[in-house]
Amino acid sequence: MLDIARDFPILTNYNKDGHLIYADSAATTQKPQCVLDALTEWYTVRNANPHRGTYKLGALATDIYEYAREVVAEHIHGKKQEVVFCRNTTEAINLVARCFVEPMLREGDEIVIPISEHHSNVLPWQELARKHKCRLVYLLTDQRGRLLESEIRQKITPKTCFVAVAQVSNVLGTCFPVKEITRRAHEMGAYVLADCAQGFLHCGVDVEEMGVDFAAFSAHKAFGPDGVGVLWGRYELLKQMPPYNLGGEMVDQVSWRKAVYEKPPLRFEAGTQNASGAFAFSVAIRYIQQLGQKAIREHEAALTAQLLEGIREIPGLRIYGNPDPAEDRCGIVSFNFVGQSSLLVGRYLDAQGINVRSGTHCAQPLLAYLGVGSACRISLAPYNTADDVDCIIRALKGGPEMIARTVLRRTK
Ligand code: PMP
Repeated sequence: MLDIARDFPILTNYNKDGHLIYADSAATTQKPQCVLDALTEWYTVRNANPHRGTYKLGALATDIYEYAREVVAEHIHGKKQEVVFCRNTTEAINLVARCFVEPMLREGDEIVIPISEHHSNVLPWQELARKHKCRLVYLLTDQRGRLLESEIRQKITPKTCFVAVAQVSNVLGTCFPVKEITRRAHEMGAYVLADCAQGFLHCGVDVEEMGVDFAAFSAHKAFGPDGVGVLWGRYELLKQMPPYNLGGEMVDQVSWRKAVYEKPPLRFEAGTQNASGAFAFSVAIRYIQQLGQKAIREHEAALTAQLLEGIREIPGLRIYGNPDPAEDRCGIVSFNFVGQSSLLVGRYLDAQGINVRSGTHCAQPLLAYLGVGSACRISLAPYNTADDVDCIIRALKGGPEMIARTVLRRTK
């Protein structure tokens, strides 16, 4: 098992009286000291605007920024010129929707997404479908949150022009069969984007292996800083796409009436880039590589099994998605206590020093499909320990009555 909590200062500094049990890593991860140091280093001795200044410090900033691109590319088995730095997964998906999918849409075309997608991977497609009289088709999950092959075959057809699918559901924790979905989509002549926001840290992203056309992820969900994300795309597709934003450094030549844009990836990086963020993300990736993807996966699988086994039989607790740890799933577990508000459960756990998320998790179509208004979500990361999971289980075993009593006591 990994033992890395001490690399993350917030886990020990947040509470005077003890350890913070942070179980909301699907929202954002905590940052290791090396990433905090990288940000300080950037602003202490590296800061200049990349791709602009020709003086030594400016050239060095460019080199570090481009080195960060190389680190990302090598980590996901892509090419350097296929890595576009942007703000986050949301922006990467919007970029593909606007610059790749919208120009090719014809009335009657179909865009396919699973019902469980995050709003960031629903709304851009909903909007395109509405605007261009196309159909947004939902792949429905089964009772256990899985996408069955029959559903994939039935819904991805010659009418499909684009498929956007999460590598891992941010509510159910299911790892979706991206490779199989992509194979089917390509057979039907459609293109595929993988939303790897939740998969990047916990499963790893290998764009060659997945076979997709685009992949999107955010640094902040993988030990990196906020405000930097990546769109990876096949170069021959990026090359044919118009720019997303217009402005500085995405352009090669500008005359009074027209402009010649840069090649990708710079074409999609208008304005001052988040260079400190890209640098710190490259340090986060090196940290992940040091831990090892296999070790991360095994550590989280063990914690997830411990958690599911510990809470599965709690009376009145209902788990959404697959309660079987042997299934292909990550350490995201959503649940409710029957008849109990998820917000109250979240407050009760907070009172025990346990941070989980309660709400709709930016996945309202899924919650409507499941017939629930909101849910609690525990999401684990490599810095969580077996003790953390024990504390969560013990707290939940307290049951709904204790939760109600504790919350009432605190609000009186
Ligand atoms: N997709 C999934 C599956 C997510 O979990 C999230 C974040 N919760 C996003 C997209 C959006 O990520 P960001 O807010 O970093 O753009």
